[in-house]
Amino acid sequence: TVLLEMRDIHKTYPNGTIANRGVNLEVREGEIHALVGENGAGKSTLMKILFGLEAPTQGEIYYKGEPVQFHGPRDAIQHGLGMVHQHFMLAPSLTVSENIVLGDEPRKGPLHMFRDRNKELEDINQLIKDFGLKLDPKAVVESISVGQKQRVEILKVLFRGAKLIILDEPTAVLTPQETDELFDSLKTLVEQKYTIIFITHKLREVMEISDRITVLKAGKTIQTLETKDTSQEE
Ligand code: ADP
Ligand code: ADP
Repeated sequence: TVLLEMRDIHKTYPNGTIANRGVNLEVREGEIHALVGENGAGKSTLMKILFGLEAPTQGEIYYKGEPVQFHGPRDAIQHGLGMVHQHFMLAPSLTVSENIVLGDEPRKGPLHMFRDRNKELEDINQLIKDFGLKLDPKAVVESISVGQKQRVEILKVLFRGAKLIILDEPTAVLTPQETDELFDSLKTLVEQKYTIIFITHKLREVMEISDRITVLKAGKTIQTLETKDTSQEE
């Protein structure tokens, strides 16, 4: 089933830069979808539009079959989207679990002062397990590896209920071994019906991990490719 469809997206920034000039993106539930293109091709802009950080100049977005336009990240998060940035935004002196719950107040509303810390830790342990990780929730973030920090960023969005996870250049700061470990984790996630969009410009990675690829060039979709034989499905 199609989870997300972005149709004929155009974006002109206030300064006149045209970042998207007819982008089409179709993402199926449970797939790893790579969004590929050179610097300046319009990938980040497209994801900002999806996440409600920028308004499209023209175009339509369908999510779970409904036309949508998310108004800001909070709205997108409430609808089950999660974005993991290339640069980590973790508090180094706090623990893994403290970082995971940090900033989650909006979802819990005014009752957050009554939140149940034990239940939270239980939820976090469960997520770590589902995600197939060996990660101590009580470890201080500055003491863990770069690969683990990135996993914490992903756990943060999972904790907020994300089902569609957008990863911006997730391997940019990783060693080859950390990259392999990340890919194993992502495969574990899609087996559990999570859906992943990942932005990259590394072709090897794209072929290795993605189910489908959308290629952007100069603000346009030039191709959508399948990397696997899916003729047996459905
Ligand atoms: P990519 O993620 O593929 O590198 P971007 O979406 O970041 O591409 O950028 C596409 C084009 O839009 C680039 O020319 C970039 O400089 C421009 N751009 C991005 N953000 C803005 C902005 N806020 N204002 C003006 N131009 C922007
Ligand atoms: P990324 O590598 O994630 O695409 P960039 O370095 O292109 O990030 O951009 C960093 C920030 O600056 C982004 O928020 C982007 O929207 C903004 N930006 C990029 N190009 C321009 C531009 N030409 N004018 C104004 N803002 C820009």
